[in-house]
Amino acid sequence: MNIKNAIKNFNELEQLQNAYHYTMGITNFDGNTVAPKNSYKARGLALSVLSGEVYKKFINKEVKELLAFLKENEKELNFLMTKKVDRYIEDYEKTSKIPMNEYIEYTKLQNESNHAWEEAKKNNTYETFAPYIQKMFDTNKRFATYRDNTKKPYDILLDDFEKGMEMKDIDNFFNYLKKEVVPIIKYSVKEYKGIRDDFLTRKFPINKQKELSYILTDILKMDRNNFTIAESEHPFTTGLNNYDVRFTTHYYEDMIASSFYSTMHEAGHAIYGLNHGMELNGSILLGGASNGIHESQSRFYENLIGRSKEFINYIYPTMVKLFPDQLADVTADEFFKAVNKPKTSLIRIEADELTYSLHIMVRYEIERMMFEDDINVKELPAIWNSKYEQYLGITPPNDTKGILQDVHWSFGLIGYFPSYALGSAYASQFIAKMKETVNFNKEMAKGNFTNINKWLKENIQKYGAIYTPKELIQKACNEEFNPKYYCDYLKNKFTSL
Ligand code: ZN
Repeated sequence: MNIKNAIKNFNELEQLQNAYHYTMGITNFDGNTVAPKNSYKARGLALSVLSGEVYKKFINKEVKELLAFLKENEKELNFLMTKKVDRYIEDYEKTSKIPMNEYIEYTKLQNESNHAWEEAKKNNTYETFAPYIQKMFDTNKRFATYRDNTKKPYDILLDDFEKGMEMKDIDNFFNYLKKEVVPIIKYSVKEYKGIRDDFLTRKFPINKQKELSYILTDILKMDRNNFTIAESEHPFTTGLNNYDVRFTTHYYEDMIASSFYSTMHEAGHAIYGLNHGMELNGSILLGGASNGIHESQSRFYENLIGRSKEFINYIYPTMVKLFPDQLADVTADEFFKAVNKPKTSLIRIEADELTYSLHIMVRYEIERMMFEDDINVKELPAIWNSKYEQYLGITPPNDTKGILQDVHWSFGLIGYFPSYALGSAYASQFIAKMKETVNFNKEMAKGNFTNINKWLKENIQKYGAIYTPKELIQKACNEEFNPKYYCDYLKNKFTSL
């Protein structure tokens, strides 16, 4: 093998992978939006055949040798190419260390477990799902040990979703929150009961809500030729390349804030996808640095912009034009307060900005205990409930509204939750740095997103997955991840509402 041939082979491999990724991405998007309900079986079959092909094409002796050769001759490669090779090697190691038969068993288990979860949630029968939680944790622990038996299994799983983050980093983050945020919640919930939010559940015509979605993306300077908005129960974004990003939102007549903030949130993910450097198109380095960094961009647009006083003052006259009857007796300030009103709730996905991260903390602490303390799954509901009481001051009346609410564990997504909370914390650190050079509040008050978007693009978005979250934060902010910014932001906002 010579280096020229190796690079040629690598480029072909990359194109092939991109083609699979593109096709499967569109198929999934279609399946979650416009496909008829009964299409799932044929789609599932087609996708499983494609996944099998991907495995065969990318996990084999030739690819292993090619990657090893390129790594040995790293000096001959340009910067981007070294990053791509490292990423392929990493993915190769991850996948190839799990024996094929155990992997197939695991995908079967995922299906069964997800089904068991749906039933248990519907019927409030935790005991029927508990054995699956046990199996999911056991299997993931075993897989992590196959991959690297010198590290703690839970650290390996955390690293899958947020590269470079270990228990000690996440512990530090949540300890900070516990000290700084839990006391505000205890104070604020009673304090803010008087804020009026009755008008948010009036009837807002859906066609007008749809109009609003496009008004918002226009204000955010998104090019309508490069993205589309579809609808789904759980909003999500599929980013294929700089010219093709699709996201979804949902519309409920009596929940105006729901589509407004789903659109702002997913628009943030979409803008990230649209702003990757052109040189990353078609490569493994598309898709963002991590779940947490992706979530930092979506929450930036949803919360730091969408729930700010300046932006609401700016957008409010447009909203009054769209919904003259519904908002006739409501001021911009009342709207601002209503969409920020903190309330302790049992359900994570309905949580407000202030309490959201504490929902995540409960899940993190339980996952950590499952790995480190060897607790029995039978004890989990009681542990869950006592943590809700401790941090949020409420106790779930049943397991459906408690430990059974999230889908993640049923699929074996363990170590995923912290990235949601980290996203919010990263966003606060980015905004603090941005404010050194961009007059953020003033620009937002004028609905001018040129400089704000440019800062995010130049410091974060254009790099795609070239850097790890830690490297990216260091580069953008000139310091390491610091949860202080997030706690300060929450304290400032929620003690002056
Ligand atoms: Zn998101």
